[in-house]
Amino acid sequence: MSEKRTEISDLGEFGLIDHLNEKVKIKNDSTLKGIGDDAAVIDAGDHVKVVTTDLLLEGVHFDLAYAPLPHVGFKAVAVNVSDIAAMNGIPKQITVSIALSNRFSVEAVDALYSGIRAACEHYGVDLVGGDTTASRSGLVISITAIGEAQKEQITYRNGAKENDILCVTGDLGGALVGLQILEREKQVFLANPDMRPDLEKYTIVTGRQLKPDARMDIIHELRELGVVPTSMMDISDGLASEIFHICKSSNVGATIYEDKLPIDKQTFDTAVELNLDPITCVLNGGEDYELLFTIDQKDFGKLEKHPDVHFIGHITKPEEGKFLVTKSGTAAAIKAQGWKHF
Ligand code: ADP
Ligand code: MG
Repeated sequence: MSEKRTEISDLGEFGLIDHLNEKVKIKNDSTLKGIGDDAAVIDAGDHVKVVTTDLLLEGVHFDLAYAPLPHVGFKAVAVNVSDIAAMNGIPKQITVSIALSNRFSVEAVDALYSGIRAACEHYGVDLVGGDTTASRSGLVISITAIGEAQKEQITYRNGAKENDILCVTGDLGGALVGLQILEREKQVFLANPDMRPDLEKYTIVTGRQLKPDARMDIIHELRELGVVPTSMMDISDGLASEIFHICKSSNVGATIYEDKLPIDKQTFDTAVELNLDPITCVLNGGEDYELLFTIDQKDFGKLEKHPDVHFIGHITKPEEGKFLVTKSGTAAAIKAQGWKHF
């Protein structure tokens, strides 16, 4: 060991993953894709398996002051299913590992699992195993999801080509705005426990934060329409950050248009109420779990009328960079802020 000490924050989350990946060598022919996409891809003969895992920590990823345990359970499954969706795969199995401190009762674990079971039902997946252990600091949940697809259906982050159309599903920024509201109401409650938070006005945005739904509906529709995106990933860290990932992996640039970015009315109004710029929320808000994908122009007609797919821009040459064209027509370089864990 050298004397040198490098802070993890100097590398950041993605820099650290790249750093770890440098020394990883793939030995098996069946490993079609290792580190670096939304899920690993494993050859299974006549089809491929996709595998992804996510770790959720109390106090970092969820706060039980406002997140009900069944919602935490549902979300823990949904975020994994979202990564399977991002590969254009269909989720089939999950394993669930939990660490519990003695603050949690059997009833609390039952509440968590009611959400996990509801998500399994909703996404058609089987809970096939896991692990249970003690924790010194609250609840930890780690879920691994396994999905399937035909090899030709798999969509990586690296397939975007010049002139492809950039698409996003649903609307963006809601989960971030919802989190700000939940945090604000928590502070109000802590200051005065007699105050009952009035969240009625904010159900859409708080729902986006507490109970995201992975877009498996879109994956099934793409199959029915015969569209295989040229690249795809899910939007967990924010649109800007994900555009950077697609551009880096595919070695392309991108131009997106402010007036095409999908934002829900309640998200917009609540952002303004919170003194946040709605477009910044759309670009940098995390945890929306919508899909970002690119399609070949020949497929545009098949998706043109889809009510929940939005065409936000197009892919350019790498040297053209990554730009947002504002409503006033000026081009501003996109910065990939995303959410920094470190
Ligand atoms: P996502 O946001 O889609 O879950 P991440 O940004 O968490 O993706 O991970 C990107 C890639 O890095 C994935 O292939 C993931 O499996 C891999 N990865 C993340 N953390 C580690 C780690 N500690 N060791 C090995 N691979 C990792
Ligand atoms: Mg992902």
